[in-house]
Amino acid sequence: MSYAAFYQESIQHPDTFWDGEAKLIDWHTPYTQVLDQSRPPFAKWYVGGETNLCYNAVDRWLPTQADKPALIAISTETNTEKTYSFAELHLEVQRMAAIMLDLGVKQGDRVLIYMPMVAEAAFAMLACARIGAVHSVVFGGFASKSLATRIDDAKPVLVVSADAGMRGGKAVPYKPLLDEAIALSAHKPEKVLLVNRALDTMQFVAGRDVDYAALREQHLDAQVPVTWLESNAISYILYTSGTTGNPKGVQRDVGGYAVALASSMKHIFCGNPGETYFATSDIGWVVGHSYIVYGPLIAGMATIMYEGTPIRPDAGVWWSIVEKYKVTRMFSAPTAIRVLKKHPPELMKKYDLSSLKALYLAGEPLDETTSSWIASELGVPIIDNYWQTETGWPIMSIARGIEDKATRLGSPGIAMYGYNVSIINEATGAECAPNEKGVVAIRGPLPPGCMQTVYGDDQRFVQTYWSNFAHEQLYSTFDWGIKDADGYYFILGRTDDVINVAGHRLGTREIEESISSHPQISEVAVVGVEDKLKGQVAVAFAILKHPELAATPEAAKILEAEVMAVVDKQLGAVARPSRVHFVPMLPKTRSGKLLRRAIQAICEGRDAGDLTTIEDPTSLQQIKAALVV
Ligand code: ATP
Ligand code: MG
Repeated sequence: MSYAAFYQESIQHPDTFWDGEAKLIDWHTPYTQVLDQSRPPFAKWYVGGETNLCYNAVDRWLPTQADKPALIAISTETNTEKTYSFAELHLEVQRMAAIMLDLGVKQGDRVLIYMPMVAEAAFAMLACARIGAVHSVVFGGFASKSLATRIDDAKPVLVVSADAGMRGGKAVPYKPLLDEAIALSAHKPEKVLLVNRALDTMQFVAGRDVDYAALREQHLDAQVPVTWLESNAISYILYTSGTTGNPKGVQRDVGGYAVALASSMKHIFCGNPGETYFATSDIGWVVGHSYIVYGPLIAGMATIMYEGTPIRPDAGVWWSIVEKYKVTRMFSAPTAIRVLKKHPPELMKKYDLSSLKALYLAGEPLDETTSSWIASELGVPIIDNYWQTETGWPIMSIARGIEDKATRLGSPGIAMYGYNVSIINEATGAECAPNEKGVVAIRGPLPPGCMQTVYGDDQRFVQTYWSNFAHEQLYSTFDWGIKDADGYYFILGRTDDVINVAGHRLGTREIEESISSHPQISEVAVVGVEDKLKGQVAVAFAILKHPELAATPEAAKILEAEVMAVVDKQLGAVARPSRVHFVPMLPKTRSGKLLRRAIQAICEGRDAGDLTTIEDPTSLQQIKAALVV
């Protein structure tokens, strides 16, 4: 079938289309209705059907591949590596589930998971899914205040945590941060289950804190049956990355999510049972939920959980993993590839990468330089994919499992099946013509797997996502984009990253693209800074390929003028940044997203706000230092 026909079917007949896809998972009780949209914009999928995410990820593979690898936990920080077969994973998940039941967790209760990238984190997620508890995984990089707000929002009865994680050879304590968070929060979890990795000392709070290893010993033979859940029961809550400073508790279902993952693993990621999948993300992010834990396992694949950086012990480490475990599909982020690009390519060439069939990249715009470089180094297709925490699986990509359509440099691809995407003119609410810029919007119903609502706040769901256009109730992605005449999309930045220079609305991303085309620029961030005269002006912070080129103030001035001239020529003088500062590093979140709002705050002399997800705080000092020069 052509992709065009497949896509059309999904949009015109969502009922029959998703009825077909639902066969990719196992159901305990068949559903009575594929789609209930009686209360738009809420959509209920597979009403009345009963299933279980853990069953589909683990149990159903036992008859055919019990002894095949399921979870491969690798830490280049502690130098440990352990493979769990499906049978072993089944045992560990039941032990964890038994512990949770013992600690009083009941169906529908929330369990907050604040863990480094260790196997026990995946056991905990799957155990929750097994017993119908709702997990809320909070990224390990979050500090106590952010953790406290998430504790108060989800009101967990149990928190699962560890003494510490490890990053770049240093222990990163978790337990003291957790204690601080619980002290700050109004809601107090009854129990805290702690995995002791012997990386840091732990103070146990009597009556509240319990040791995982000891309880596991007591439950070695535990048999915990699967709790069958109605398709629309809540599987988990996951807060958005907080790039724009406003995390929302994305709530997801059970059945629709399972189908969306099984389906995307087949049509987009093309994974087969028995193969190995390697997503380099973190369980604290949506990629970790969909494509480290649930997706690959639901597809019967082995999945790699990796603790460490891409460059330790050296920049060949990921490729050594690809060779050793014969990874067929790999998923990472452009930011990681840019890091690797700074290291000698020989490190990659050392390894046999013949098992690898494709590399998927997501999370931020994939620039052409990075994409072309990695494509030529690896010699496999590089598949960009665009989506959000809210959607749970790609909105745009290339579904190579249906038709091997060409990719286009700079484009994350075409609309994925199930997503009725349009580019909407913000002012008129009308659909944009090809190549005309507008907001990327999706006509409801959103396909299975997407968020059900904002946890505990239906009103905020409708208000935030579905109330942005005058004429029609459409889901807004809050991203700018264009669609070309062939249906390929290009993402032009976030609608909240717009600068208004003397009445002209400019996307920061467009200015960044333009500056990046200067041959000496390796990376750049543009922010809008308050200006008495013009309202706002664009200010750029750029990393040079050869920093020595701006070693003296005179040299920097010349280069700055050159960069401004490029913008003048490509976008016009209104878009010209008032200053181009050269810096060694840019502030980014741990998932590689530019923290433009923090840069902007510093430029305007304000407090930089919640910075708990920042990768390296010294990057902000460098921004401050650059402003003084
Ligand atoms: P918050 O919503 O809390 O500000 P966030 O939007 O950064 O956080 P995520 O859901 O992790 O949280 O990120 C989704 C966003 O990342 C998209 O809306 C888009 O702006 C960007 N993005 C993701 N993938 C791509 C891609 N392939 N190309 C361009 N941008 C992408
Ligand atoms: Mg967002």
